[in-house]
Amino acid sequence: MDSGDLIRTTDLCRYYRRGPQEVRAVDGVNLSITKGEFLSIVGSSGSGKSTLLNLLAGLDTPTGGGIDVAGERIGQMSRWQLADYRATRIGIVFQSFNLVSHYTAQKNVELALYFTDVARSDRPKMAAAMLDRLGLGDRLDHRPADLSGGEQQRVALARALVKRPEILLADEPTGNLDQTNTEQLAALLAELHSEGLTIVLVTHDLALADRSAQRVVRMHYGRVVDGEMPPTGEVRP
Ligand code: ADP
Ligand code: MG
Repeated sequence: MDSGDLIRTTDLCRYYRRGPQEVRAVDGVNLSITKGEFLSIVGSSGSGKSTLLNLLAGLDTPTGGGIDVAGERIGQMSRWQLADYRATRIGIVFQSFNLVSHYTAQKNVELALYFTDVARSDRPKMAAAMLDRLGLGDRLDHRPADLSGGEQQRVALARALVKRPEILLADEPTGNLDQTNTEQLAALLAELHSEGLTIVLVTHDLALADRSAQRVVRMHYGRVVDGEMPPTGEVRP
C-alpha cells in the first residue's frame, strides 16, 4: 500500500440476494484514495455508487474483499474503533439532506458532535462557527422547513464537517438542488479541498464531476471502469 493512500479497497464486493436472484451491487472494486484527493465516482443509476460509498463509510459490511483505512482493515476494527471511525474520521452528505425536522439548523449540526469527545459546552459554538463558515450565520435558529433546498444542504454539509473529518463522502449532494445551488455547493467543495480535505463525490452529473474533481472514475454494473473505457466486454469501433 502506498503511504499516501488514505483508503484502499481490495476486491471489494457487496452482493444482495433477492429471492433466487443475486444482485452484484459492488463487484470486485480495487480503488485507492489518496490523502487530500478529490475523487468523483460517476455512473448511471443502479451502478453501485451508493453501495460503494456506504461500504467506505463503514455503514455496510462487504460480502467479500476489504477496505483499509490508513493501513487498517475496517472489518478487523473493534466495535469501538469502527464507531470512532464513523463518528470522527468520516463525514457524509446525502442527496436527501436527512436533517431532523423539529431541530434548528444549529441543533442539527450539534448532533454530529454527540458521539465525539467534544465537550458538551463547546458544541453549540462549534456548530454555529461551521454554519457561519458555510454562509448560514444568520440561519442558526431556522428549522429545515424554513430553509431553502440549498441552505438545507449546506446545513447537512456543516453537520458532516463540524467534527473535522479527514474525508468527506458525498452521495449525489446536488441531486435535489437547482443550478445556482449546485454551483454554490461545488464552489464550497473546491474551497474545502484546497484546504486539504479528502473528498469522494458520487454523482450522475458528469459535468459536475469533470469540473470539480481531480480524478473521475466510472462505475458500471458494480465495477469501476476507467472514465474513458467502454464497459467490460464491449469493443469500441
Ligand atoms: P446507485 O447508487 O449507483 O444508483 P446502488 O448502489 O443504490 O446504485 O444500487 C446498486 C444495485 O444494488 C442496484 O441494482 C440496486 O437495486 C441494488 N441494491 C441496492 N441496495 C439493495 C438492497 N438493500 N437490497 C437489494 N438490492 C439492493
Ligand atoms: Mg445512489
